[in-house]
Amino acid sequence: MKVAVITESAPGERRVALVPDAVAKLRAAGLDVLMETGAGAGAWLSDDAFTEVGASIVTRDEAVATADVIVAVGRPDDATLAGLRSGQAVLGMLAPLTDPGFAQRLAKDGVIAVSLDLIPRTLPRAQPMDALSSQANIAGYKAAVIAADAFGRFFPLLITAAGTARPARVLVLGTGVAGLQAIGTARRLGAVVSAYDVRPETKTEVQSLGASFIELTSVGAASGEGGYARALTEDERQAQQDELAGHIARHDVVITTAQVPGRRPPLLVTDDALKAMAAGSVIVDMGASALGGNVVGSQPGETTVTGNGVTIIGASNLPSRMPAAASAMYARNIQSLLLYLVKDGALAIDLSDDLQRGVVITYEGRVVHPALAGESQGAAPPDQHNESAGGSDRVDGAAH
Ligand code: NAD
Repeated sequence: MKVAVITESAPGERRVALVPDAVAKLRAAGLDVLMETGAGAGAWLSDDAFTEVGASIVTRDEAVATADVIVAVGRPDDATLAGLRSGQAVLGMLAPLTDPGFAQRLAKDGVIAVSLDLIPRTLPRAQPMDALSSQANIAGYKAAVIAADAFGRFFPLLITAAGTARPARVLVLGTGVAGLQAIGTARRLGAVVSAYDVRPETKTEVQSLGASFIELTSVGAASGEGGYARALTEDERQAQQDELAGHIARHDVVITTAQVPGRRPPLLVTDDALKAMAAGSVIVDMGASALGGNVVGSQPGETTVTGNGVTIIGASNLPSRMPAAASAMYARNIQSLLLYLVKDGALAIDLSDDLQRGVVITYEGRVVHPALAGESQGAAPPDQHNESAGGSDRVDGAAH
């Protein structure tokens, strides 16, 4: 069976889906690996590094023409997808929920699409394949480093002959995978860290990293399904924003990571909260998206400074800014999933398996993933977590 890695097409994307170590493991399992010329260049991996472990270097056209499985980080470009043939598979973080017609188009062409971003994360055997976690970990680390870089003072306590610097006060809002890594990184840099999440069960994890957990008196627990948060009601949201503003004003650096599946990121830092912050404060918004972020006015990939001197950094694809580490971890996720799916040298799709049912979105000409089940009738995909809370921020089909 031939597995081909193609060069990523999204602007600025530097990751590559397989690194030489993973290629060697796949080769040892009997798979042939084709690499598109220069696919690893963004992660400082030369074509020679791949040929040394037995990969063949090919053009994009050869890869698409001969591979049984195409592997990628993000969704391949339309021209590549249009060139796929029936029975061929494509594997990557395909974000199928953001684009209702995407899975239908692949199904119509008979392509087997496997989307790592839908992996059922609570299945223990899926953990080595959990690319959402591996990449969120990297993003959380990078967010803390970016914040430290943009902050005009020290993170650690420094006592020197030229004076004493107090440690930075860092607040992390949202303590999932990325938030916990941001806390750990800021702590290792010497900051005094506080954190808040609507899921109170994260308190012990926060405290085990040496940070203090902020409990709001005006908003109760908002744990949803599958370890995620639910969307807040309008009243809860208002109360949360008002109470958080006081905490935000007491911090030098704020890192926001809050997400709710299927919804636009919740707004946590309002205009009033920004106005109450001291000049020189820094915010890194990991929730920044085209739909809005956790911080009012933040834009992905843009840094702005407010009139009162607060720097707001809208994060954009942070894992790609650490391409070597992110590719190595992602490659391990791909390797684990591929080896799980391959039996006797061929893809063995089995939709009675709960892990496979979670990641396979098209098979034998049909859209088969439960979260996309409405698509064949032309309906908008249902919210994958069936949240009960209402609200105006529903993003039908938004990938998480
Ligand atoms: P996420 O990216 O969905 O959200 C980040 C954080 O934002 C979450 O902790 C969420 O509670 C928080 N949040 C949402 N709305 C908020 C609001 N209004 N105010 C404050 N915080 C808000 O989270 P994630 O990192 O993808 O992780 C989600 C869950 O999945 C966690 O419980 C994690 O432990 C779990 N998980 C489990 C496994 C596993 O079982 N193997 C693997 C990975 C993740």
